[in-house]
Amino acid sequence: MPRPIQAHIDLSALECNLQVVRRASSARIMAVIKANAYGHGLLRAAEALNEAEGFALLDIRDAICLRDAGFSQTILLLEGFFTPDDLPLVAEYDLACVIHTQQQIDMLEAYPKRRSLEAWLKVSSGMNRLGFAPDKFSAALQILKKHPAVRDITLMTHFAHADESTGVAAQLNMFNELAAPYRMARSLANSAALLRYPATHADWVRPGIMLYGASPFVENSSQQLGLRPVMTLQSRIIAVQELSPGEGIGYGGLFRAESPMRVGVVACGYADGYPRHAPTGTPVLVEGQRTRTLGRISMDMLTVDLSALPAADVGSSVTLWGEGLPVEQVAHAAGTISYELLCALTERVPIVTV
Ligand SMILES: *Cc1c(COP(=O)(O)O)cnc(C)c1O
Repeated sequence: MPRPIQAHIDLSALECNLQVVRRASSARIMAVIKANAYGHGLLRAAEALNEAEGFALLDIRDAICLRDAGFSQTILLLEGFFTPDDLPLVAEYDLACVIHTQQQIDMLEAYPKRRSLEAWLKVSSGMNRLGFAPDKFSAALQILKKHPAVRDITLMTHFAHADESTGVAAQLNMFNELAAPYRMARSLANSAALLRYPATHADWVRPGIMLYGASPFVENSSQQLGLRPVMTLQSRIIAVQELSPGEGIGYGGLFRAESPMRVGVVACGYADGYPRHAPTGTPVLVEGQRTRTLGRISMDMLTVDLSALPAADVGSSVTLWGEGLPVEQVAHAAGTISYELLCALTERVPIVTV
């Protein structure tokens, strides 16, 4: 028997979450499948999301893989191309590119085909990560409009605070002002903006995390948003220890029993992608019952409190996150976000699609 850990990927939940986007917005959907579809598997996710009008990712090899698998939607490279060597492939596979810096415009001289590149011109409206500064934006746009390689231009920006109380107003106003003179398609919204600010929907929305069934907000659960978890990380108890008062458990003996207690050892550790920094008290389900982790997470194992679960024993099922335990709750307890946990799932965890 292999080790009992598995990640279940619920493809019907992925389809349902896409319908949540459909109901929320009439814009075209650019499904974000970067980072191996947030850890869910690139092609597997793309197939379930096939109804989306586009896919956004980072790696040109992944984009080519999608084309080779027969996907004919718009495929957008979110960081565009990196060197002139990328351009023949961009042309051959008809990949849309985010253009965010003057160096990329300079490289476009090497583009092999006239009027065939779909450019997504990015303005940095407050994030200050990728994109032309507002005072450089219209000059960049004029160059692209006249550029022989460019067929079509979409204007885009990305929000820094869509999931927080700061909101999108300042960035939205700046973007709208910059884009106002031009009749071009626009794209602004990530999951948080899509759910909270209909004024950002424009022509293309770019949902990521919500497709995978996690909430982008601290205050709203995925359930409240009508989202279904797609990934459920499951394992089993492989040993039970009886601790006496004062005995510690795991490396560093970080947790010490105050009274006699039963502890379950679960086949899941940081080498599977479970966060090592999850403290004592991080929620976990044993046979569907909520309990907590104890002490330090090891490479291959973690320990859970069975004090209130006398029936639990070797072989009992454990849910680390997913169905019955929203990943954002585990992330919150561990001081991180659901995105990081989902992406961190490692190669050695077998995937089972359900
Ligand atoms: C990752 C990403 C998204 C999706 O963000 P979510 O918060 O996962 O919805 C949208 N747009 C861009 C530019 C991104 O990099």
